[in-house]
Amino acid sequence: MSDSLSDCIFCKIAAGEFATDFVMETDLVVAFDDLSPQAPTHVLIVPRQHVSSIAHLTADDRDLIVEVTLVINRVARLRGIDATGYRVVTNSGADAGQTVSHLHWHLLGGAPMGPIA
Ligand code: 5GP
Ligand code: ZN
Repeated sequence: MSDSLSDCIFCKIAAGEFATDFVMETDLVVAFDDLSPQAPTHVLIVPRQHVSSIAHLTADDRDLIVEVTLVINRVARLRGIDATGYRVVTNSGADAGQTVSHLHWHLLGGAPMGPIA
């Protein structure tokens, strides 16, 4: 992974430049509410270090990959959606509709969802 990019919005958020309220933060990731929620609970889980998308993760990123899974489950419990269910999505590249080129996972829940796509 490369260092923070000066023009990357999620690098800035993760660095605390906008005083974002983090739902949770660890050494490796931060979690915060999506600006434009698509479900009653819509939290983004974002690595502190810049990486463009899941396509750029390697075997060297195992700690991050494990951490993200644990944080997702902890945020789901915090937000009270662990029992009712939730969806985790990460978009990679143009066909998936990725709009922010800093890897992030969407945690969505709080109401029944339709099938994917
Ligand atoms: P993508 O389309 O790349 O998978 O998802 C990007 C997400 O980031 C979108 O759901 C969008 O609403 C969210 N987003 C973009 N800019 C900001 C921001 O400045 N703050 C927050 N909290 N969310 C953002
Ligand atoms: Zn970034």
